Amino acid sequence: MAKFYITTTLPYVNAPPHIGFALELVRADIIARYHRLLGDEVIFNTGTDEHGLKVYRNALKENKDPKEYVDMLVKRFVSLKSTLNVSYTNFIRTTDPHHKKAAQEFWNRCSASGDIYKQLYSIKYCVGCELEKTESELDEYGRCPIHPNLEIEIIEEENYFFRWSKYQEKLLELYSSRPDFVLPSFRMNELRNFVSSGLRDFSITRRREKMPWGVAVPEDDEHVMYVWFDALVNYISTLGWPEDEKKFKNFWPGIQIAGKDNLRQQAAMWQAMLMSAGLPCSKQILINGFIESGGHKMSKSLGNVVDPTDVVGQYGTDALRYWFAREVPAFDDGDFTQDKFAFAYEGNLVNGLGNYIQRVSTMVKNYFPEGIARPSTEDLLKVALKRGDSEYVALEYFIKRIIAKEYREAMEKFELTKAIDKIFELLKELDVFVQVHEPFKLIKKDKEKAKVILWNLCYGAVGLAWLLIPFLPETSDKIFDIFGITEKNPPAGGPKWDNFKAKEHKALFPRIEK
Ligand SMILES: [Zn+2]
Repeated sequence: MAKFYITTTLPYVNAPPHIGFALELVRADIIARYHRLLGDEVIFNTGTDEHGLKVYRNALKENKDPKEYVDMLVKRFVSLKSTLNVSYTNFIRTTDPHHKKAAQEFWNRCSASGDIYKQLYSIKYCVGCELEKTESELDEYGRCPIHPNLEIEIIEEENYFFRWSKYQEKLLELYSSRPDFVLPSFRMNELRNFVSSGLRDFSITRRREKMPWGVAVPEDDEHVMYVWFDALVNYISTLGWPEDEKKFKNFWPGIQIAGKDNLRQQAAMWQAMLMSAGLPCSKQILINGFIESGGHKMSKSLGNVVDPTDVVGQYGTDALRYWFAREVPAFDDGDFTQDKFAFAYEGNLVNGLGNYIQRVSTMVKNYFPEGIARPSTEDLLKVALKRGDSEYVALEYFIKRIIAKEYREAMEKFELTKAIDKIFELLKELDVFVQVHEPFKLIKKDKEKAKVILWNLCYGAVGLAWLLIPFLPETSDKIFDIFGITEKNPPAGGPKWDNFKAKEHKALFPRIEK
């Protein structure tokens, strides 16, 4: 059994779950479910980043112990599991005792490589980002463009630094030896340019007297680790590193998925840290775009922040998953508006997929309540699909050998939009099949032929359900159930479904009153 590991970034626990993180989580889930479908053993990691100045200050403001405070905040992230129907296996909190020990061991290894040193430190710091800002990253007012309402803080003190500059050449070598290390390629180019322009060592600690809410630095009580340094280690501490060597070797390196604002941290900072600790770099890093709303970056002041939980409340989990997979470009920015969402929902789910399943199941239920057994190959070929000018293929072959192959190729490249497009291409083909053969008319003239047509349409419905397993797991389950199929996850070589029966069911995607 192949081993597969995928992880999201850990969102900062202080802010409520953002639609961009929901996108990241759902996409990681689609990839994880796809690998389970292939028969892989999958570890799918997510969690929360819980240290740092922002949490500490807010906890003080609310008169709470920081741990008590994050215990309360983390619930909003834990509940995403059911809201978005994600199948993660690991949920790591950077306040977990094991993670803290792993972060300390990681520190010791970087230190043993000579990559950690102490220096006087004076930087401009955005509390909102929990990041140092260089002059060029600030706007014309000297403020962080992401947090224009916060004052930039000047911090001057002695701190520990990580020797990032030492890894410039090694990182560039990594990127040239593995050109698809970061997907999409335009992000890879952006990263290469950034690293080529030179890396500055970065501070990895804060003084405990000012900010005690972090992982203790080994053998120095005056410092705690900077939130980024400890949080990045989660990708391996979740695998039991350092003590569970077997599990670590089996699953690391893995696939990481992140938003575009996280490119440098994931693909340059973290990779240099891994090199320093003598560990293999990640396998691949997938970069998502942002989700805007009505052409604008979402912001409280514009009042256009979309809460994923609200969308699910109105349309259901699979509608949002569908939107993430198909309507947001695989590696680029998406735009959420109520109108666009409603339009895609109506057109593709209510009138498309839902309607097809309803029509087919109703015909089968009415005309053949006893069910339909597999027709002879000869009969199946008589109603084959026309492909190109003179090529005909049986629908079963079309699904297993043509659509599923193209779908797999897209999935292997993490082109989720392309893969789900294949499912809707199949749906279109099935709709044409209904139009060409008109089984509702044929039933009066040639019941035997109508039966063959309907068997094909059932096969098509279940074929859709099969390909939908990673994308819309709940809808997929319902379709299998409607047509009486229990063998959902067929063995290698593709599905072989023989007998179908249809049952009464509620609309898969109810019409939403506006
Ligand atoms: Zn900021």
